[in-house]
Amino acid sequence: MGSIRILDRRVVEQIAAGEVIDRPASILKELLENSLDAGSTRIETDIVGGGVEKLVIADNGCGMDEGDAALSLQRHATSKISALEDLDALRTFGFRGEALASVAAVSRLDLLTRPQKDTHGTKIFAEGGMIQNIGPGGSPPGTHLVVRDLFFNVPARRKFLKSNQTEESACMDIVGKIALSRLDVTFQIKKNGKIITTLSSGETLKERYLKLFPQTPEHQLFSIESVRDSMKLAGLIGAPLFCKSSRNSILFFVNQRSVRPGVLSQAVVDGYSGYLQAGKFPIAILFLEMDGRLVDVNVHPTKAEVKFSHSKEVYGFLEKAISERLRESQESVRRHVMPDYAPMVSEARGYVPQHYDDLTLFEKVAPYEAKVSTPRVLGYMAKTYGLFQEDSTLFLVDMHNAHERVNFDMLESRMGNGHRPSQELLAPVPFELSADQHLLISKYGNFFKEMGLEIEEFGGQTMLLRAVPLGLQQLGQKRFLLSLMEKLTNIDELKDPAAIQRKILMTMACRSSIQAGDDVSVTEMQSLFEKLLRSSNPYFCPHGRPIIVKLTLDEVHRLFRRK
Ligand code: ADP
Ligand code: MG
Repeated sequence: MGSIRILDRRVVEQIAAGEVIDRPASILKELLENSLDAGSTRIETDIVGGGVEKLVIADNGCGMDEGDAALSLQRHATSKISALEDLDALRTFGFRGEALASVAAVSRLDLLTRPQKDTHGTKIFAEGGMIQNIGPGGSPPGTHLVVRDLFFNVPARRKFLKSNQTEESACMDIVGKIALSRLDVTFQIKKNGKIITTLSSGETLKERYLKLFPQTPEHQLFSIESVRDSMKLAGLIGAPLFCKSSRNSILFFVNQRSVRPGVLSQAVVDGYSGYLQAGKFPIAILFLEMDGRLVDVNVHPTKAEVKFSHSKEVYGFLEKAISERLRESQESVRRHVMPDYAPMVSEARGYVPQHYDDLTLFEKVAPYEAKVSTPRVLGYMAKTYGLFQEDSTLFLVDMHNAHERVNFDMLESRMGNGHRPSQELLAPVPFELSADQHLLISKYGNFFKEMGLEIEEFGGQTMLLRAVPLGLQQLGQKRFLLSLMEKLTNIDELKDPAAIQRKILMTMACRSSIQAGDDVSVTEMQSLFEKLLRSSNPYFCPHGRPIIVKLTLDEVHRLFRRK
């Protein structure tokens, strides 16, 4: 007697169900997508007990008649395709006819549905995939689904569910993501029967984002829009200071479909380069529209990988759009503090009316309203942070980082122009190097020279420091050179010559900057602050550490609960 047997249909369905849905969030995703596929303009959802106990999804879409409603719970029942060729023209999320059947197979399900044109609806109760009850039922047009007791009949799967709280937040993630991509649809979101938020159709992406993430300060979000060839990018990006420690806040939609950010998120992160510390990630909700023939959004139900036929172009487009938008947002701080800052105010005025809303990183101050004044030095906190005041705005400046930025810009501007502004030392400084370091000196000697740092062989292991770059303080110190040499060993392992040069300049800039604990005069502070505002990036030092933190009067009022 053989031991092989054909599995019972219900067992097969329960196994298959697990492939499509593994937790409440994946049910919610499928059901919300069904509602959108049904043309709904309003969707209500309730997540009870982490969605394990109960999930409700009610829509005002096309609904189903009795026959379709009964069929919809069967595997491979779909209204969306009938032949393989239909896949090419697919505009809906679903097409495999698996989701409802899978959900039904592992839960207790109430389905109440009514087509728009009919006067009555159909009511179905199914348990573990078997229809227990079917008949007419009073219903508004649309579909109302209640999924209860997830995995009640598959304890092995139930065991893998996390705490209700974790499941609930995974559900909220999904609703949020879908809601952000469909501003034309109203979503009402409830948790345990209590309304959390109502997202109205027609609101802007920013408004919707702030409703979903109310702890986000509005001025930390910039809208972005950019067009190149047949590609169009639109969305929101977060200010660099308002960053996260994971990539989870980068959301991508390609031709309206949510995709795994993958290579796209790398382009975003690279667009932020110089603005973010390593290990920090920005907020970004980006919509990329492009010719459907140049992109392949894999329609596998759980994966959403995306492939581009011109991925380099897409990458370059995104990176540039982001970095330009960030630069633009920074110009505004300079305009705020220094209205005479070029590009001229007249040019800025030109685009103030349409971009006014998200023009400034700090606050809604049109450039021409800014006062002509230089910030006043208030103090030097812990010999580390300069305190400045301009009108009713307070600035805290990390003086080391600020100095580093200014020095770095100065060195970088000298690169390749052949001027070599250097300052000869009255007495050359001798120092000893290891054999390896010797090699490195000869390898990078020309570059050092170009930057105004002159080092000469003296005999044996000894070298002589003869001249230092003009304008850099403290460079005469042996300590500086030794630490530069130490760094150089690591830097040399980089392969890209441009990256090596950049790192060398970064080290020079860093080691010649004032350090926390150094004394700095008021005049020096004033002058450094002014130079900083003219620098290429007054917000972040070349290593990506923050330089300026600002407190507006409004924020101070809020701290004291006056607002
Ligand atoms: P798919 O979405 O892949 O077609 P589903 O199992 O998710 O498969 O749904 C099966 C069918 O049930 C759909 O093709 C659709 O005709 C119908 N359906 C499901 N949900 C709804 C809904 N909310 N409103 C109207 N029809 C629906
Ligand atoms: Mg579906």
